[in-house]
Amino acid sequence: MKVMKFGGSSVEDGARIKATAAIILEARRGEEIAVVLSAMRGVTDQLILASGEAERGEARFRERLRALAERQTLAARELLGGGEAEDTASRLTRLLAELDDLFTGIELLRECSERTLDLVMSFGERLNCVLVAGYLRTLGESAAAVDARAMIRTDGSHGRAEVDLAESYRLIRSRLAEVGGIPIITGFIASAGDGSTTTLGRDGSDYTASIVGAAIGARAIEIWTDVDGIMSADPRFVTASFVIPEMSYREAMELSYFGAKVIHPNTMIPAVEKGLPILIKNALNPAARGTLISSSSGARAREVTGIASIENVALVNVEGGGMIGVPGIASKVFLALARERVNVIMISQASSEHSICLVCSSAEAGAAVRALERELEKEIRLKKILPPELVGDLEIIAIIGERMRGTPGISGRLFGALGSERVNVLAIAQGSSELNISLVVERADKIRALNSIHRAFLEGSHAVR
Ligand code: ADP
Ligand code: ASP
Ligand code: MG
Repeated sequence: MKVMKFGGSSVEDGARIKATAAIILEARRGEEIAVVLSAMRGVTDQLILASGEAERGEARFRERLRALAERQTLAARELLGGGEAEDTASRLTRLLAELDDLFTGIELLRECSERTLDLVMSFGERLNCVLVAGYLRTLGESAAAVDARAMIRTDGSHGRAEVDLAESYRLIRSRLAEVGGIPIITGFIASAGDGSTTTLGRDGSDYTASIVGAAIGARAIEIWTDVDGIMSADPRFVTASFVIPEMSYREAMELSYFGAKVIHPNTMIPAVEKGLPILIKNALNPAARGTLISSSSGARAREVTGIASIENVALVNVEGGGMIGVPGIASKVFLALARERVNVIMISQASSEHSICLVCSSAEAGAAVRALERELEKEIRLKKILPPELVGDLEIIAIIGERMRGTPGISGRLFGALGSERVNVLAIAQGSSELNISLVVERADKIRALNSIHRAFLEGSHAVR
């Protein structure tokens, strides 16, 4: 048995859904499958924008909802036929009416909490699963839409909830045992103990697929997307990037954590636990081999497997003579940030202990600085610590590879490449695992930096394909 997950681009309209169904039916001939689906491409973003507008009382959200409903109805008209058509169409109409009601509520209350937003976002995946299951039945295949809220249990941290894996595995096994035919499962969404809808974080459908795979003892998980596999760098920025045929779970986790959004970092957690291989495949080019993620990084002798980058980050610098040798400053800093729910992506501290530099998303940087000013108010007043300094418009670039460990000269080559392109590096961090070196550069330098690093480690004699 295997789990196949299809992302937003594979289900963006009637034509793409037809192609995706063909892939599903082909796989079904060989073995049992479970399918996990995202919302149509762009739908989650539209729902988020619309809920902001409704909350502010801006009537434009109605237009967005209308466009969304139209897109769904158009695809339904193209795909559904026979006795199936009416039943699925009326289920879609009911869901769309429910979504409309929910928005009326938001508009009236002028409030959309994270809890409500999770419910709003859930409609993208729910609509899509009803539609695709209906289409498969139109084709004569037995298939049923399955709402993951009935089987993935999380805590109540809306927006990016923590999954209770053991409980979810149990629920998934018992729920899927009741489904006849191919289960078409909503990605991304789940529910908390109080019954409220939660989500697993943006791009979380990949994670859903591996939770389901681990629960049912699948032999593999396939993530179907719009590129031939995980590439040596984001193809939008590095034209010489190429598909990496194999990599380890740790490499995939690091690459995705540092911005390779082709797979969600949490996907690797259940997979590692159960030793489940993950295959990334291109739904637009099914013949391509894809990328295999497993416990081994493959038999290639290359130090750097790939490069990733995170855009729109800011650097916050906490600095001052009063920090030297004083225990507890770092813990104060990180507690204050945790309290504000600021997600620190990268940290670097000089061994002089004179400064701590941390990097978070630009959106959270203001809150981070305010939290630090409050927490360190006394030290700042006594001039032991300078007011926190904020530098915006930055990018993190990370080079990742298991084989960097113990190989001398990697940093030399890295900084040599950046130096020759006159890229200024604002901060550096290397974990003791030596699996990753990450650095912060100015936004304007990003493309030059990515390409020069790619040339130094992954092209010419360094390229092993
Ligand atoms: P899906 O909707 O199928 O989940 P995503 O948009 O989430 O697809 O992820 C696929 C996209 O990830 C690609 O189109 C590509 O632009 C981007 N991407 C970023 N880094 C990489 C990388 N290293 N390799 C492949 N794709 C990458
Ligand atoms: N639809 C969700 C999102 O856009 C989840 C996903 O696509 O994986 O974030
Ligand atoms: Mg994705």
